[in-house]
Amino acid sequence: MRPLSAKPILFLIIKWFSDVVFAHGNTERCCKELSSSLHVATPGSQHYDTHLNTYFSLDQGRMQPACVVFPSDASQVSTAVSVASHHACRFAVKSGGHMAWIGASNIGADGFAIDLENINTLTISDKGDSVALGSGLRWKDVYDYLEPLNLTTVGGRMSGVGVGGFILGGGISFLSYRHGFASSNVINFEVVLSSGEIVNANSTSHPSLYWALKLSSTNFGIVTQFTMSTFPMNNVFGGAQVFAIEESQALVLSLVQSTASLNKNPDQSLGLLLTWSAAVQRYVVWAPRIQVDTSSVPPPLTSASPLLDTLRITKLSDIFTEWSGEESSIRGYNEWLTLTIKIDSQLPLDIFVKGQALFGPFIERAGYHWGFAVQPLSRRMIRESMDRNGGNPSSLSPNEDLFVLLFVSSWTDPADGEEMRTVIRQLASWSQQEAIERDLLEDFVYMNYASGVQDALMRSIGPENLSRMLDIQKQYDPGNVFGTLWSGGFKLRDPTVDVADTRRDISEL
Ligand SMILES: Cc1cc2nc3c(=O)[nH]c(=O)nc-3n(C[C@H](O)[C@H](O)[C@H](O)COP(=O)(O)OP(=O)(O)OC[C@H]3O[C@@H](n4cnc5c(N)ncnc54)[C@H](O)[C@@H]3O)c2cc1C
Repeated sequence: MRPLSAKPILFLIIKWFSDVVFAHGNTERCCKELSSSLHVATPGSQHYDTHLNTYFSLDQGRMQPACVVFPSDASQVSTAVSVASHHACRFAVKSGGHMAWIGASNIGADGFAIDLENINTLTISDKGDSVALGSGLRWKDVYDYLEPLNLTTVGGRMSGVGVGGFILGGGISFLSYRHGFASSNVINFEVVLSSGEIVNANSTSHPSLYWALKLSSTNFGIVTQFTMSTFPMNNVFGGAQVFAIEESQALVLSLVQSTASLNKNPDQSLGLLLTWSAAVQRYVVWAPRIQVDTSSVPPPLTSASPLLDTLRITKLSDIFTEWSGEESSIRGYNEWLTLTIKIDSQLPLDIFVKGQALFGPFIERAGYHWGFAVQPLSRRMIRESMDRNGGNPSSLSPNEDLFVLLFVSSWTDPADGEEMRTVIRQLASWSQQEAIERDLLEDFVYMNYASGVQDALMRSIGPENLSRMLDIQKQYDPGNVFGTLWSGGFKLRDPTVDVADTRRDISEL
C-alpha cells in the first residue's frame, strides 16, 4: 500500500477549517443584516428557545442555528433569500417542523433558520370554493377556520403538522381517496424564487413551475401561500379502534378488501398501525377511520370486539384532536422510513413478526417505541392525483392498488439512538428485500414519511419527469442557489453530472 502523503491531508484540514470559519462569518453577516429589517431571534433569547421546541423531533430541536428569522409575508421571505444569496449563507426553512429527520427543516450554527410561523393568514374566497393559506399554518388552524363554514380541504390528519411541508411532499389526507394528494388540490402557489422574485404559479401563470411544485421539497422556491379548493363538510363518522395484536391477520385482510372498495366508495379513510403500546405494555393494532357519510355505521373491520372504540359521529377537528394524542407517544428522537408495495395481505404480517424479533431486546426500555403502519394508495386516489389540476411529477400509475408502509421508531434517551436507528433500518432493509423477492416493490418512496438517508424524491419521479424537473429547475434557479445554500428536504440531482449524493437505497443502510 502507498504511504499517505501529508500534503493532501493538510490541504483538506485547511479547506475544512476555512469552510467552517467563512460559513460562520457569512452567517453572522446575514443574521446582522436581516435583523435590521426583520424579526430575528438569536441564541439565548426566549423566542429562539420556543422556536426549537416547536420541532416534532428532538433531533431537529437540538440543532442550534446562528439565528432564526421570522418573516411575516412574501416580501420579507424575499429579503431573507436575497440576503442569503448575496452573502452565500446557508439556511433551512420550517413550516410545522414535523419532518422527523435531523436537518430536514433546521440547521446548525453555520446557517440560519427561516421559521414561517408568522405567515399565518387564512382567506376564504367570495364564493367559498377556495381558501388561501399562509404557509406557516398548522392543519389545526385550517380546520378551526373552515369548520364553522361547513367546509374543509385536503389537509393533514394530525393537528400539529404544518401546511408547508405536508403539501410540498404530496400530502395523504382523509379526503385523498376521493380527491388525490393534497398538492393536486392546490390551485395557486405564491412562491419566492432564488432571485427573490415573488411569483404566482398556477395553471396559466408559470404552469411548469406549478406542476413541479406539487412534489418539490426544497428545490424550487419558498412557498408563502397555498390556495386550495374547498369541499363541503359537516359531521363525519370517525375515531379509532384498538384491537389485540392477535387480530392483525384479520385486520390486514380486511384492509386489503377495504382498499379495493375505496375505488368505488372513496368517502372514507382508513389504515392500520401495528405497534408496541408502552401504556398497556403489549402490542396492539390501532385502526383510525373516517367515513364522510354519517347515515350508516361503517362495516366492522373484524368480528372481534375492539379493546377500545372511539368511533362516533362528530366534527373532524374533534377526531384530529383525539389522534393528535397519539403524537405525544411517538415524540422524541425519531427514525422514520418508508416503502411502497403492491397490495398484499401477507408481507405486512411477516414484516411485523420480523420487527418483533428485532426489537425484542429493547422492549423494556423507558421512552422507547416502535410501530409499523400500512396505508392504502388506491387506484382512484392515484388517478385523481395525476389528473387533477395538471397532475404532479410522481411516477405513480393508477393501474394497481398500493400500500405505503411506514416504519416508525422513537426513543427519549439519546444514548439509545445508534442501536434504535440500526434496528429500524435493518427492518426496513429486510422488508425491501422481501418485497423484491415477492415481486411487490414499487419505486415510489413517499417523501413525507421518508428518512433523510433515503433518496425519496429521485426514486419517486421516474427518468422522464426527472429530466423535466431539472429543466424547470435550471429555468427558475439558474445559479443553483437553492441547491447549494438551502439545507434540508430532498434534493434533485442530475445523475449525469452530480457525484452520488449521500442518500442511499434502503438495502444499503
Ligand atoms: C405526527 C405526524 C403525523 C403525520 N401525519 C401525516 C399524514 O396524515 N399524512 C401525510 O402525508 N404526512 C403526515 N406526516 C408527515 C408530514 O406530512 C411531513 O413530515 C411533512 O413534511 C411535515 O410538514 P411540516 O411543514 O410540519 O414540516 P417541516 O419540517 O416544517 O417541513 C418539511 C420540509 O418541507 C420544507 N418546507 C416547509 N415549508 C415550506 C415552504 N413553505 N416552502 C418550501 N419548503 C418548505 C422544509 O424545509 C422541510 O424540508 C405526519 C408527520 C407527523 C410527525
